[in-house]
Amino acid sequence: MSSTVRRDLGRALCIITGASRGFGRAVAKEMSLLVKPRSALVLVARTGDDLRALQLELAESEAGRAGLVVECVVADLGQTEALESVVRACKECFCEDVDHIILVNNAASLGDVSRYAKSFTNMAEVDSYLSLNVSSSLCLTASVLQAFPQHPGLRRTVVNISSLCALQPFRSWVLYCTGKAARDMMFRVLAEEEPDLRVLNYAPGPMDTDMYTVARSRTADPTIRKSFSDMFAQRQLLTCEESCAKLMKLLLDDSYTSGDHVDIYDL
Ligand code: NDP
Repeated sequence: MSSTVRRDLGRALCIITGASRGFGRAVAKEMSLLVKPRSALVLVARTGDDLRALQLELAESEAGRAGLVVECVVADLGQTEALESVVRACKECFCEDVDHIILVNNAASLGDVSRYAKSFTNMAEVDSYLSLNVSSSLCLTASVLQAFPQHPGLRRTVVNISSLCALQPFRSWVLYCTGKAARDMMFRVLAEEEPDLRVLNYAPGPMDTDMYTVARSRTADPTIRKSFSDMFAQRQLLTCEESCAKLMKLLLDDSYTSGDHVDIYDL
């Protein structure tokens, strides 16, 4: 925990999963403005065209002109090979004077919210969900921490993009709530084990993204579905940029307790 408020994130290597759209894309854009010149962003998602469009946009921005390196890793994080590709890309753009490694575990899927828990009899379906949403974030985090061990002058920050669903059950959202609860606990354990790390579970609030569109249209439980549709209709959703600005402030202030779950509405 630092006593002074920083105005930048340092000469950083930032790894952002799910950077092709939605909140992850906003995080990548905002981080590009807050890192020192000649920092690097590693952007991960399956949709190569969207990642490359963002890469181009960043290359043409002020940060790009100041020497920001942007690498795209087009990969399905539910597959083991993806983690190797991410670590390889990170090593390729790592320089000795990088003083901050920031991993944002943002990629996630909603799972099938059109059914209730009692319908999930197929273990392969549940395993596949957990593989992307739980296993990959633990194994990617562990791989990055091993690839870039602690040394004097290096800060390491791991962010888990969490949700209210990590804390509260929502009918017909069994996979999502289970995955988010597991992820929070994983990162709390990590924070206990690694006191030199900064670990943040950040719940970004309801945002108008593809995931939210699926949530408000396909949720099986009528009460939950209606509450999501009403929030959309009454314009109560946040933009990704609004929520991202709060996350960036948390990272710059650096005064949260490592391992904490911080909800945007707590700020
Ligand atoms: P979106 O569905 O809009 O975007 C999800 C991102 O994850 C995309 O970039 C997608 O890229 C990527 N992704 C999905 N599956 C995979 C995969 N198998 N491999 C690699 N990348 C993958 O979601 P949001 O932007 O809304 O959500 C971002 C985070 O915020 C998530 O963790 C979500 O749970 C959380 N959140 C969102 C809320 C909301 O209201 N939107 C509320 C609370 C939390 P691609 O398809 O190209 O692979």
